[in-house]
Amino acid sequence: MTAPTYDLGKLHGGLRLTAHKRESTAELIKDVPLPSRLVLPIEQHVGGPTRPVVRVGDHVLKGQIIAEPERELGAPVHASSSGTVVAIDQWPVSRRFGEKAPCIVIECDGKDKASSEIAIDDYSKLEPDELLLRILDGGIVGLGGAVFPTAQKLMQARTCKIDYLILNGVECEPYISCDDVLMRECAAEVLSGAQILMHALQVNVCLIAVESDKPEAILRLGQALADLGDQRIVLKQLPSVYPSGGEDQLVQLVTDREVPSRGLPTDVGCVVQNVGTAAAVHDWIVNNQPLISRITTVTGDGVDAPANMRARIGTPVADVISFAGGYTDQARHLIIGGPMTGKSVTTDEIPLVKASNCVLVVSDAPSPGDELPCIRCGDCASVCPVRLLPQQLLWYARADDEKKLRDFCLTDCIECGCCDLVCPSHIPLTANFRKAKIRIQEVADEKARADRAKRRFEARTRRLEREHQERAAELARQKSSAKAAGPAAIAEILKRRQKKDEFE
Ligand code: SF4
Ligand code: SF4
Repeated sequence: MTAPTYDLGKLHGGLRLTAHKRESTAELIKDVPLPSRLVLPIEQHVGGPTRPVVRVGDHVLKGQIIAEPERELGAPVHASSSGTVVAIDQWPVSRRFGEKAPCIVIECDGKDKASSEIAIDDYSKLEPDELLLRILDGGIVGLGGAVFPTAQKLMQARTCKIDYLILNGVECEPYISCDDVLMRECAAEVLSGAQILMHALQVNVCLIAVESDKPEAILRLGQALADLGDQRIVLKQLPSVYPSGGEDQLVQLVTDREVPSRGLPTDVGCVVQNVGTAAAVHDWIVNNQPLISRITTVTGDGVDAPANMRARIGTPVADVISFAGGYTDQARHLIIGGPMTGKSVTTDEIPLVKASNCVLVVSDAPSPGDELPCIRCGDCASVCPVRLLPQQLLWYARADDEKKLRDFCLTDCIECGCCDLVCPSHIPLTANFRKAKIRIQEVADEKARADRAKRRFEARTRRLEREHQERAAELARQKSSAKAAGPAAIAEILKRRQKKDEFE
C-alpha cells in the first residue's frame, strides 16, 4: 500500500470543530427506493440559464436530457428515471431557501428504462478536447457544493499551464460524510475519474487530499492505488481543520502556492475537483451514466437513523428523511448542507439536487443568541482563513459602501462562517456578507443591462443618422436630375418627399 504523506497545517485561522460524522458512517451506503415522482429543477449549477427541452405529456427515459443550457456556461439536466412529464412549474427549492423555481416533474413509470446512448470504448484514445465535450454532455457539476459546471472549469484550465490536479476529499464541515463513504466504498471509481480528468487536462500529477480523521477512506484509497500502480497519483493526508476543504485553502495546504486575491487556482497551476465529481466523471465516461444520482448524508439528532444514501436527483427530501426512519421528537430545524454553509429551509417538499451533499435535521437553533454591538475584539479576523477583516467588512456592508467592500476584498470571502462562530457579540457576519455580495452582483448586473441598452441606443442613432444622410444625398441627386427635366418634376419630387416625411 502507498503510504500517504502527512502535511502540517499552513492554513491561516480556521477552527477545529466537533465532527459529528460517526452517526452517519456506521453502515454502508443505502440505496433510496425510486420515488413515484421526481422534481428536477432546471437550473442546478452556477452559470447561465437552462431551458426545458421536453413538454408536459412527453415520455422520457432515464438519462435523457430534459433541460439544456442556453449559453456556454451551463450543464444539462437529465431525467433521473423513466416516466411521463406531468408538469413544468414553479416548485420550492433549497437553492432559494425553499422559495420556488422552475422544475420539471416526472411521474415515474417504475421501469427505470435507460436511454440508449452509446458508451465510449476507450477514453484515452480521444483527444483532450473531445473528452471535454463528452464530459460536458454528462451534466456534471462540482459536487462539493460549488456546482460549477465541470467541463467548463476544465476548459478554462486548459488555457493555462497546469501542474497539479487536486482531488478534494477533505470534507471538513461537521456532520457531512458523503465523500468519506464514497472514498471507502468506491475508491477505484474515484481513481478512475482522476485518470480521466488527468487525460482531459493533460497533467501528470494528481494529489488526493484527505483529512486524517478519515482513516478508513485513506486505507481504501491506498489499497486501490497500490492495485492500480499509477505513480502519478499521490495521496496527501491533512490535519482536520475547518475550512481546509475550501478550494484556495486546499491549494495552499497541499502545494504551498497561494491563490491571489480575486484569482483562481489555475493562476498558480492547480485545478481542484471534488472526489465525488471524479467518481461522477468515471460513471459517465466509463459506464455511460450521466449525473442522475448522488450520495447524500441524512443526519442530525432530528432523524431516527442517520445514514449515507444514494438517491436519484429530484427525490423529495421528505422521502430520504422517511428512509432514514423519519423525524425524531427533537427535530426542529431542517438544513440542506452542513451546519456552517448550509441553507435553512422550512419545507421538506424540496427535491434533492446535484448540490445536496447533506440533509441535516437538528434540535438546536442555528442562531446562537441575541445580537450585541461589536466590541472590536478581533477574534473574527484571527479565524478568517482568507485573512479578511470581518469587523471592517461588516461596517461597510451595513453602510452599503460598495467601493470599500471591494477594497477590503469582500468577494474573497468564502462564507465559511468561522467569524460567526467565534463572535462574542453573536453578530451574523456571514449573512451580512452574503447579502452584500448579492447586492453588489445585482448592481453589476444592472450596470451590464444599462450598458447593453446604451450600446443598442447608440447603434440605432448611428443607423438613423446614416439613413438620413443617404436620403438627403438621394434627394439632392434627384433634384439635380429633375432640374434638367423642368419645374413639374421638382414639384413631384418634393411632394413625394413630404409624404414620406409625414409617414415617418
Ligand atoms: S468577533 Fe464580533 S465583536 Fe469581535 S471584532 Fe469581530 S465582529 Fe466585533
Ligand atoms: S465567512 Fe468570510 S469573513 Fe468570515 S471567516 Fe469565513 S471567509 Fe472570513
